[in-house]
Amino acid sequence: MADPKLCEKCGRCCYAKIILDGEVVYTPFPCPHLDEDTRLCTIYDRRDELNPQCLTIDMGIRMGLFPADCPYVRGLPDYVPPRHLTPTELEDCADAILEAQHSLHPPDDKPDEA
Ligand code: SF4
Ligand code: SF4
Repeated sequence: MADPKLCEKCGRCCYAKIILDGEVVYTPFPCPHLDEDTRLCTIYDRRDELNPQCLTIDMGIRMGLFPADCPYVRGLPDYVPPRHLTPTELEDCADAILEAQHSLHPPDDKPDEA
């Protein structure tokens, strides 16, 4: 099991991802519990209770959710990290991305409208 102390607290794994043609791809949307200034989770000690969608480290490794230079996966043989959307994909996948964003904001946890 990966040691949580290895985390360098960059926050990159806390952005929603979608599966595109079998590949894991980052969306531009952070988890609503990520503080984008500090890059830290605001509910870390209670994340299992407050955000059941937050995966364990081992699940994240198995699903390829960590960037290649994350200490949890650095040097793992055959590990495939998520990639970023191209501008064209971003346009083409707007619906899927919107859905990913909505899944981060369940009805009782919607962000304030701008
Ligand atoms: S990508 Fe890795 S180092 Fe960065 S916050 Fe996630 S677990 Fe920590
Ligand atoms: S709940 Fe999970 S995905 Fe969301 S910010 Fe915290 S650690 Fe990241």
